[in-house]
Amino acid sequence: ISFTGMGLNVDLVTNVKDKLGVEKPTNAQKKVIPILLSSIQNNDDTGNKDIDIVLQAETGSGKTLAYLLPIVHRLIRITTDLQNANPKTRSPLSRSIGTLAIILTPTRELAKQILSVLESLLNLPPSRLSDRHLTHWIVPGSVIGGEKKQSEKARLRKGINILVCTPGRLLDHLSSTKSFVVEHLHWLVLDEADRLLELGFEETLQKILNLLNDRTESMNKLKNNLFSSPMWPKKRQTILCSATLKDDVKRLVGYSLSNPVYVRG
Ligand code: AMP
Repeated sequence: ISFTGMGLNVDLVTNVKDKLGVEKPTNAQKKVIPILLSSIQNNDDTGNKDIDIVLQAETGSGKTLAYLLPIVHRLIRITTDLQNANPKTRSPLSRSIGTLAIILTPTRELAKQILSVLESLLNLPPSRLSDRHLTHWIVPGSVIGGEKKQSEKARLRKGINILVCTPGRLLDHLSSTKSFVVEHLHWLVLDEADRLLELGFEETLQKILNLLNDRTESMNKLKNNLFSSPMWPKKRQTILCSATLKDDVKRLVGYSLSNPVYVRG
């Protein structure tokens, strides 16, 4: 099966080919992408099909695109839906909607790599949406330290829709940056979970999960125009990637995901 055969946005697929030289999906992508897109086909009366995923895969398996492509695909559709519903909107995923996806990584280096892939994906040429590039509509960003906290705060305040971060910094901002909106978070990715734990982030992760759970509690009650697109997952979807599934990773899966499917990349 090809990327377009899975139902991914054609412009996005062309972009992946042009910018990253990626044409044929890897095993991990073949398995994960349809699951993360499946709720789109099934988001009707048959119920909630937004499933959590444990992806056991090494670096090099294509795991990054396996989770990024469906998230970006859905956000493009959501943005298009919002734009069609309200053609005058200049910025559908506005500042007030805040962060919709968080990707947690063990290191700054990895976060930078993921952000750069994300920027390539969103750097789509002017499309049906407007004369602007998609990065204007769907804002990617990172908080990884190595930058003044004030300037990170300022960027968060403006609204980063897809946020790549390291645990310490994320926790820091979740507890201290008032204008960091996470109430509408729909996707959480724990990338290289085994390394996150090896580096001693378990307690930080627990605190992050608790804060996110508290702050997204009322998410499902939101029913305004912004959330009417059928592309939104009905509940927050969590994707955990790990090369190994040792006991500590299994424990993390136990308290951070609900009824996950296990996929081997
Ligand atoms: P990852 O496993 O996400 O760390 O990706 C490892 C590398 O594989 C990256 O340099 C990607 O650009 C590349 N890659 C990802 N998906 C594919 C694909 N479908 N075909 C060829 N290369 C890919």
